[in-house]
Amino acid sequence: MTDAVFRNFIDGRFDEPSATFDSVDPSAGTAWARMPAASEADVDRAVEAAHRALRSDLWRRMTATARGKLLVKLGDLVAANAGRLAELETRDTGKIIRETRAQIAYVGDYYRYYGGLADKHEGAHVPVDKADLDVIIRREPIGVVAAVVPWNSQLFLSAVKLGPALAAGCTIVLKASEDGPAPLLAFAELVHEAGFPAGVVNILTGFGHDCGRRLTSHPLVSRVAFTGGPSTARAVVRNTAENLAYTTLELGGKSPVVVFADADLDSAANAVVAGIFAATGQSCVAGSRLLVERSVKDEFLARLKRKAEAIRIGDPQDPATEMGPLATLRQRDWIEKVVAESLTAGGMLVTGGTRPVGSGFYYAPTIIDANGSDLPCVREELFGPVLSVLAFDSEAQALALANDTPFGLASGVFTSNLGKAHRMARDIHAGVVWVNTYRAVSPLVPFGGYGLSGLGREGGLDAIRDYTRSKSVWINTSDEPIPDPFVMR
Ligand code: NAD
Repeated sequence: MTDAVFRNFIDGRFDEPSATFDSVDPSAGTAWARMPAASEADVDRAVEAAHRALRSDLWRRMTATARGKLLVKLGDLVAANAGRLAELETRDTGKIIRETRAQIAYVGDYYRYYGGLADKHEGAHVPVDKADLDVIIRREPIGVVAAVVPWNSQLFLSAVKLGPALAAGCTIVLKASEDGPAPLLAFAELVHEAGFPAGVVNILTGFGHDCGRRLTSHPLVSRVAFTGGPSTARAVVRNTAENLAYTTLELGGKSPVVVFADADLDSAANAVVAGIFAATGQSCVAGSRLLVERSVKDEFLARLKRKAEAIRIGDPQDPATEMGPLATLRQRDWIEKVVAESLTAGGMLVTGGTRPVGSGFYYAPTIIDANGSDLPCVREELFGPVLSVLAFDSEAQALALANDTPFGLASGVFTSNLGKAHRMARDIHAGVVWVNTYRAVSPLVPFGGYGLSGLGREGGLDAIRDYTRSKSVWINTSDEPIPDPFVMR
């Protein structure tokens, strides 16, 4: 029995869906709402609306300052509605309320940041090496953006796309994941309330094979901003062979957390817990590989085990809960499979490996000592609360293990030695290195990966640039007739 129906937001209107699917509350394992399943025709309407809006005087001739003010207003609305949006995200994805509330309130700052930047993103004048010619470089919006996001932290992952894209003057079709789309579809009401012209922002949900594929291959789309898993990213890149859209990819990770014997071990243990058990491990930056110096391994693992077993697991809507369920049954099945294979292959279970709560998609905080083996849990991104542990004897070995992965999104280094911290930060192959901390983000700081973790950066000043393209304007300042027409000037 479902009690809520959500709608797609296309061309400034909330559509009555022609097809729907059930969304499941992961803490109960039962359907609680019906979501619109956007068809290819719905996607076409949304992209065409975005394309019309891009060409319209209302949006094209709006000053960057006015666009910025709309973004700031949107940021204020998100912050003011953070409680309501957080309850929806928690209901639809199982992410605990204490995190969704704080994270969504902070999402408001991302829109304010890009609102402030909208009229500070300048072109250039080039002192060109030719007499009587002047060149200015205009930065123009790249066009219609297709933004595709996964279910975890959807408001956050959308803000790092919508913020810079709208600041640059683009228009957008944003596809929420088919898992847990409620908060993004509700966010559309705030876009409407903020006063963006119809068609500038369109938000819909549906499945990857039709809606996602059509959106990312659409001939009117010039820019694709994708966040999700590496195998879907490959499909998205193939889709963009159709429209040759400029594409950025924010993908998965198998991030190392390196703990040296000289670190503050209690602080490091808290950071490891934050890295792998916060958000039930369903975070692209999850610190899923613990590399610990052998001399402190037993002591450190004992601390971690105590902390993991003390985590309060329960109803994600309860502010006292520290770990909620996994977002989908599919996710738990995958984690259980990889954990079973890893234990068969020689991994030693330190704690967890069970389903702690009867109904819902719960999975206990789990630590596996890999004993130096190349186990599936050391290699695969699990996207769940499973920590794999490896020991090292030297800084060089720690670095080699840290970089022994095709991914390169985030990393953590814990040491009290400044030189060692700098050396590790320089040599780790990852887009983010946290030193003596973990899981900190800001709209001011670029974020993105190396290798299989993706392409491009979100956040920070340069993100706007990725939503523009340059136009070189050559101006002849001479009144003399053009000289020899058969020689290039
Ligand atoms: P996913 O790749 O299965 O889905 C992501 C989105 O792609 C969904 O909206 C889905 O409908 C869409 N999609 C699926 N097939 C498609 C197709 N053929 N064409 C176009 N779109 C298609 O990811 P998921 O399982 O929902 O999320 C988990 C993954 O996301 C993990 O790998 C995680 O690390 C990654 N992630 C990365 C970041 C980051 O910033 N680097 C942040 C969060 C999550």
